[in-house]
Amino acid sequence: MTLIQSKTLGDRVRGDFPILHQEVNDNPLIYFDSAASSQKPQAVLDVLQHYYQWDNANVHRGAHTLSGRATDAYEGARDKVAQFINAASRDEIIYTRNASEAINLVAYSWGLANLNPGDEIILSVMEHHSNIVPWQIIAQKTGAILKYVELTSTEEFDFEQYKSFLSDKTRLVSIVHVSNTLGVINPVEAITQEAHKHGAKVLIDACQSVPHMRIDVQAMDCDWLVASGHKMCATTGIGFLYGKKDILLAMPPFMGGGEMIDEVFLDHSTYGDLPHKFEAGTPAIGEAIALGAAVDYLNSIGMDNIHAYEEELTAYLFKKLETIPNLRIYGAKPTSGGKGRAALAAFNVEGIHASDLATLLDHDGIAIRSGHHCTQPLHRIFNASGSARASLYFYNTREEIDTFITALKNTIDFFQSLN
Ligand SMILES: *Cc1c(COP(=O)(O)O)cnc(C)c1O
Repeated sequence: MTLIQSKTLGDRVRGDFPILHQEVNDNPLIYFDSAASSQKPQAVLDVLQHYYQWDNANVHRGAHTLSGRATDAYEGARDKVAQFINAASRDEIIYTRNASEAINLVAYSWGLANLNPGDEIILSVMEHHSNIVPWQIIAQKTGAILKYVELTSTEEFDFEQYKSFLSDKTRLVSIVHVSNTLGVINPVEAITQEAHKHGAKVLIDACQSVPHMRIDVQAMDCDWLVASGHKMCATTGIGFLYGKKDILLAMPPFMGGGEMIDEVFLDHSTYGDLPHKFEAGTPAIGEAIALGAAVDYLNSIGMDNIHAYEEELTAYLFKKLETIPNLRIYGAKPTSGGKGRAALAAFNVEGIHASDLATLLDHDGIAIRSGHHCTQPLHRIFNASGSARASLYFYNTREEIDTFITALKNTIDFFQSLN
């Protein structure tokens, strides 16, 4: 009898990602930078290629066959995204270039129309710059005030402080679901519930959760949610804003142009229905269609399977990293089984610059990120100008973690031998 070792999810899907099968600096590529951008499966690349090769035409305008095909595929992808996050209606999905644009859309449209001097916006210190800078701009324009929820001693979202910030002045709470630096998973349902008690709106930055776990916007009850395609197996140039229909209906347009109008006169215009009111100009048609293909691909694997496998990887990554002396990982530790945390670790090793670590690991074909990961205020709290970050996705394996840990230890030994 032969013993058949069951393959892990990572082993099973790796063949779907052509880019992973190459050597970088004479070593097999190990891609641990998916929190910055994920790789794309062949199924998504094929859909993109097919669109540009056979169906390419502008959407919504033409009577001809190609325009009809492009429109059907573009709008079909919207249905897929809506179902993926359990939106109540396809009209609640607005395509944007990325999550940053989606946040800016809410800031400029809703923010400028609804915020007044003294109104309060609650953010947290772990927000990505994309969820800080647009609100600073809007606060400067409206006189609204920003309040930042800090970290607990275990480096998590301080829920008690958050509750103490809420008042009838609070108009908006805009919080990251999963931190791209701390890896912590914030209690977004409870955050939303508390905000709604005070009549405040809630925006969830789901860039690091939509690719990795099942999302249900109706259960979450958030008013808006944003994500980027390129972190969820789709291409760059496409992301989306989810918004509750009644709220989107009441919001003025963000940008003006073709596609978003009903009728245009020389002195005024009327606007199109949702979702087109917020999609000015020719959109990223092929990229939206590819986003739909990415959703199909993720569904074919199953978000619960992805999440469970990433928890295993998280537990393994932490077990290994914790054996390295003088290595400091930011953010609360995972609980048993790698739960409660994303499959990423931002860390620093005493006396070694993060960018030096990343550069030497690249010589071994290992791609990790170094820098501030667009969370400068958070790094300032840790008195660090930056950190190294290994971020995993479901196509990574334990064997890759082993290779990474060995290379990391060798790199650290090398730098320490220089002293
Ligand atoms: C990547 C990221 C963003 C910004 O996404 P873009 O695609 O650059 O717009 C915002 N928030 C978090 C948590 C992210 O990880």
